[in-house]
Amino acid sequence: RLVLRNPVLITEKSFHTTYSNKKTESFEFQAETKSLLDIVARSLYSNSEVFIRELISNANDALEKRRCIELSQEAGTSSDVPYEIRVTTDEAANKIVFEDTGIGMNREELIDLLGTIAKSGSKEFRNQNIDSQTAESIIGQFGVGFYSAFMVADKIVLKTKKQDSVGYTWLWNGSSAYEIAENEETTVGTRIEIYLKPGDAAEFSRRQKVIDIINKYSYFVTVPIILNGDRV
Ligand code: ADP
Ligand code: MG
Repeated sequence: RLVLRNPVLITEKSFHTTYSNKKTESFEFQAETKSLLDIVARSLYSNSEVFIRELISNANDALEKRRCIELSQEAGTSSDVPYEIRVTTDEAANKIVFEDTGIGMNREELIDLLGTIAKSGSKEFRNQNIDSQTAESIIGQFGVGFYSAFMVADKIVLKTKKQDSVGYTWLWNGSSAYEIAENEETTVGTRIEIYLKPGDAAEFSRRQKVIDIINKYSYFVTVPIILNGDRV
């Protein structure tokens, strides 16, 4: 895992809403992260559907982690929340949503994990002069994780809650910064709303397109995937 330098907290401001006691923190992506994002965007341009594989694989990982924790607890203490991944497409809103009942993230994890280009192989990305062919083979081998969603989105709203932590909303709206704020969420898990770019990316809000992609990639998934209410 390549851990990027800690993101810089650039502002702290108050919510000008009814939740006036909740503060929003803004973080600037580091220059290093930005250049990695550019490489990812360029290399995956013609294969952007992989973001669906990456987000489902993260959801699956999060559910596996929850399962491990519940297995290690005393009998009777595990929750009765089902282990599942829900994907919802919304063509009218040009949007796709991924939800899991997995382990969730707390504030530190949101900053450290989502602020990290995670794949061990992506160390190679540190050399900013790599050509796009090399970049593509690295991505092919190791994947790109959460950041692949940046290719197709102009806004991402991620809500997450971990057991024994408050819930958080993580927001990116196309700029070089992201925001984190507490929310009122009470269910453990993660929900990621991808607001798709207009144009080519709009196809990922089409149900049949998404079924095809899920069937192509999700052989590794160990839990049910439910698309718009129906099991895939
Ligand atoms: P990787 O999966 O290889 O670690 P990613 O970029 O895909 O890299 O994800 C980075 C990290 O963010 C994950 O390791 C995980 O800790 C956290 N994460 C991402 N998505 C989720 C999710 N749906 N639920 C819980 N944690 C998540
Ligand atoms: Mg991943």
